[in-house]
Amino acid sequence: MVKAVVGANWGDEGKGKITDLMAKEADVVIRFQGGANAGHTIVNDFGKFALHTLPSGVFYGHVTNVIGNGVALNVPLLIQELEHLVQQGVPKPHLLVSDRAQMVMPYHVLLDTYEEERLGGRSFGSTKSGIAPFYSDKFAKIGFQVSELFDEQLLREKVQQVCEVKNVLLQHLYHREPIDPQALLETLKGYRNLVEPYVGNVSAFLDRALRDGKEILLEGQLGTMKDPDHGIYPMVTSSSTLAAYGAIGAGLPPYAIQTIVAVTKAYSSAVGAGPFVTELFGDEGEELRRRGGDGGEYGATTGRPRRVGWYDCVASKYGCRLQGATDVALTVLDVLGYLPQIPVCVGYEIAGQVTTEFPVPHLLKEAKPVYEMLPGWQCDIRGIRRYEDLPENCRRYVEFVEGQIGFPITMVSNGPGREDIIYRKSPLQ
Ligand code: GDP
Repeated sequence: MVKAVVGANWGDEGKGKITDLMAKEADVVIRFQGGANAGHTIVNDFGKFALHTLPSGVFYGHVTNVIGNGVALNVPLLIQELEHLVQQGVPKPHLLVSDRAQMVMPYHVLLDTYEEERLGGRSFGSTKSGIAPFYSDKFAKIGFQVSELFDEQLLREKVQQVCEVKNVLLQHLYHREPIDPQALLETLKGYRNLVEPYVGNVSAFLDRALRDGKEILLEGQLGTMKDPDHGIYPMVTSSSTLAAYGAIGAGLPPYAIQTIVAVTKAYSSAVGAGPFVTELFGDEGEELRRRGGDGGEYGATTGRPRRVGWYDCVASKYGCRLQGATDVALTVLDVLGYLPQIPVCVGYEIAGQVTTEFPVPHLLKEAKPVYEMLPGWQCDIRGIRRYEDLPENCRRYVEFVEGQIGFPITMVSNGPGREDIIYRKSPLQ
């Protein structure tokens, strides 16, 4: 049985927390796309952690944590993260890295940084983790697979060829130092030593796990709006953020994914540039940012202030549909407790017409939010464990959102901790 936890919006919806609590029941937790460019924040008995590459199952001794072939693997960062956990008192997790995963090279990070500098005001707001150059090279067929680290002859020849191309760019477009192929080869040998204990054939492992009736959890990074095909292109990430891609990025049959939990936050937030229809500015935005998440809305990887806005039913309905949500987890609901009234976006007005269908990206900048006002509950809902114990206006908010997006909200998260979760039988079931 395979379950997926994915983002319905722009990322930072609280997927890490939902994965962490679902990982308790899982035997295997897999990262299937993206790299160390985003982070999950997890608060549990060991403390507070920001995970960038490691799957969220690392806090459970019974879980095998897998880096799937679809991931942009930064080997030294992975190992650093692992060491950091152990230093913080977490027992060393079981880790399996796909021999087909490709690696983020030091020059990917450089090229990402130099390109953002070159673009100046037209930049994509990249985290400069090398993700776009990495995926470009993967599909241009000049990427490095983990398996290739173990064939030195192949590695030496490939390094030579790749340096020829990269050095033209580095020297003539960016006016920087060229890469020394010998030094790069040595770096890669270092990567081999670091990663060797963890490398294996992931799809074969998963095939066996499925046959043995194990529970497998796919963990998505970012959300639908950041998908290169279905998101707000070009302000997207460079690998698919959709649950469907879990089959490819892990090496699983697509029909094995039976449960898809789309995570959506009770208000909107986004990092980086791009259209954001319900964005709040000024004092209203500052207050939500300050009160948001767990200690404010600031990026887990970059510390950048997140842009915040009211809940967007148009984007979330689309986000859940593209994910194929069987369940929706509505998170961070507790944060809205300070508001006497809460605006919820129920439509976009584009060229004088109101629509509830999320438009193609270039129309988004014209879209104006149409709001409906819901009454707030004006109290702290943390610590409540049963849905019926939530204040009436709070339940009304949940049910209104559920009606608008058309997918069942089966989990409500009312705090950052593992135990801050309310399971709910959906009226749609
Ligand atoms: P992810 O990348 O989707 O896992 O999201 P992040 O971890 O970047 O951001 C979610 C933030 O909200 C983190 O700081 C979480 O600890 C926090 N969080 C998650 N669920 C809740 C919740 O229900 N209430 C509050 N107040 N914070 C939450």
